[in-house]
Amino acid sequence: MTEMTDSMNRSSVRILILTPEHTDYLWYVSLLRGCFEILPDTTWCPDLIDCDDLIRNTAFEVILWDCVLRGESEIGFLQYLSVSGSGKPIVALSAEMESERTPEMLINGAADYLRKGGLDIWSLGRAVRCAWYADQVADSANGRLGCEVAERLRQVLRRVDSLMRIGGDEFAIIVERVEDSLDVTQMIRKVVQALNDPVVVDGNSVEVSASLGVAIYPEAGDSPETLLRRANRAMFEAKLDTGTSYRFYNQQLHITAGRQLKLEADLRNALRGRELELHYQPRVDLVTEEVRGVECLLRWNHPDGTLVPPDEFIPAAERSGLIVPIGYWVIEQACERLREAAALGHPGLVFAVNLSFRQFHDRKMTETIFRIIYNANVDTSLLELELTESAMMHDPEYAQRCLRELNQLGISFALDDFGTGFSSLSNLQHLPISLVKIDKSFVQELGVSGDAEHIIRAIISLAHSLQMSVVAEGVETKGQLEFLRQQHCDEVQGYYYARPMPWQQLIEFLEERNRLACLQQ
Ligand code: C2E
Ligand code: CA
Ligand code: CA
Repeated sequence: MTEMTDSMNRSSVRILILTPEHTDYLWYVSLLRGCFEILPDTTWCPDLIDCDDLIRNTAFEVILWDCVLRGESEIGFLQYLSVSGSGKPIVALSAEMESERTPEMLINGAADYLRKGGLDIWSLGRAVRCAWYADQVADSANGRLGCEVAERLRQVLRRVDSLMRIGGDEFAIIVERVEDSLDVTQMIRKVVQALNDPVVVDGNSVEVSASLGVAIYPEAGDSPETLLRRANRAMFEAKLDTGTSYRFYNQQLHITAGRQLKLEADLRNALRGRELELHYQPRVDLVTEEVRGVECLLRWNHPDGTLVPPDEFIPAAERSGLIVPIGYWVIEQACERLREAAALGHPGLVFAVNLSFRQFHDRKMTETIFRIIYNANVDTSLLELELTESAMMHDPEYAQRCLRELNQLGISFALDDFGTGFSSLSNLQHLPISLVKIDKSFVQELGVSGDAEHIIRAIISLAHSLQMSVVAEGVETKGQLEFLRQQHCDEVQGYYYARPMPWQQLIEFLEERNRLACLQQ
């Protein structure tokens, strides 16, 4: 504790006095000066509107608040004061009896409450000194710790967000301009991660935790006062949980973010617990009718017995970064199956794997893929990676370098969901892409809109002129198939031939087709 003392051993206490009347201010100062134990260093703030700057920018130790507001706004202002004053003790004064007002004042952030009518040197001096002393003790107990926690939190929050320390491990966070609940989940994830590692205090490792109340601007309010009050209220609810906990002022957001974080945690367990598996969807050559390859599609065997489709968990895997290890697992698994397929008499089958945007931009991508294929000892010309236009066009130079490096190892590339992005094939012609996959949305529009026919025709002819093959996705009907055949599309993939299926079923499917082909010869 650093404090100034005078010859009478009185500690200097910086006190902000909020009262509209100058005469009242002078009266409080005279009472405080009469107190033997403290040396008051006072500042007067007559206008509550102006106190925000004073509180934020000056290091007050105690706030003396003469409440002249009434009803709901009075308690609201007290909560605001408690949050914006970063937990500095507030001694509240008003006309009502202590027995009537004290509990409400203390619940809402005051350190003490005194009735103005009964005020004297002793009562005011005692209240200010006790509040100040209790705060000093609490600060020295968790001052290094609390500051470290605050610092960690500050590092993960954006500049537009505000963090306020209310008490030792209590924080109010005001988040601005959130696009959707996903951003909030992202923020909460970072905050919780930031508190995962223990703090070292005097050479000892101390586990940290915090109670966080989050209010989102503008949904939770449009004035700093309301936002702080609401974040504060949420924080009180968070405190009911043990360990690091958070609450949003907005219940719905709380539920959504909680669900997303739970999904991410479950997914992490899924990867560890071998709950993920691949299904394989055949790609059929339109000239020979042979199965040329399969697309590997991820499925999650959830412990509750359901098979979760990728659209439901890949976005969560992308957000949390888990898609990177999951994606490498998919490549490893595909390589294993590739060898197995050859051993079972299907040596030329191409295995196509989807690479997510995030995985493609993983700094260790090329070396990790290299290690996987080296360990698996597979014919790399049978491995194809599917990328979307956006993954390639985000940073064309990077894409070019990665694709070239992997292409030199024998891996080929397909442009997935083609037609949905904004790039043109000619932009991509310098990249080593050997195949274009027409997005299923166009195939499914065939016969419904004339545009789809024109687009598909144009894609096929342009791709062929650039020496790329074309696969149409999502072929479900004979009519779609015939149109694609007429347009010289090279391969098709879709429910018309087969749905994605587990490995064993794929092997049976391939054997059945081989058997039928032999019969026809
Ligand atoms: P995608 O790469 O476009 O995969 C094709 C999707 O179309 C698959 O959905 C497939 O089951 C579906 N499909 C195939 N034929 C038909 C058809 O005739 N009609 C209809 N309506 N749908 C058809 P799925 O398996 O649900 O996968 C959805 C998306 O999830 C994939 O779209 C891909 O973007 C992503 N995904 C799947 N596995 C992986 C993976 O291992 N890694 C990454 N990063 N993404 C994956
Ligand atoms: Ca794909
Ligand atoms: Ca697709």
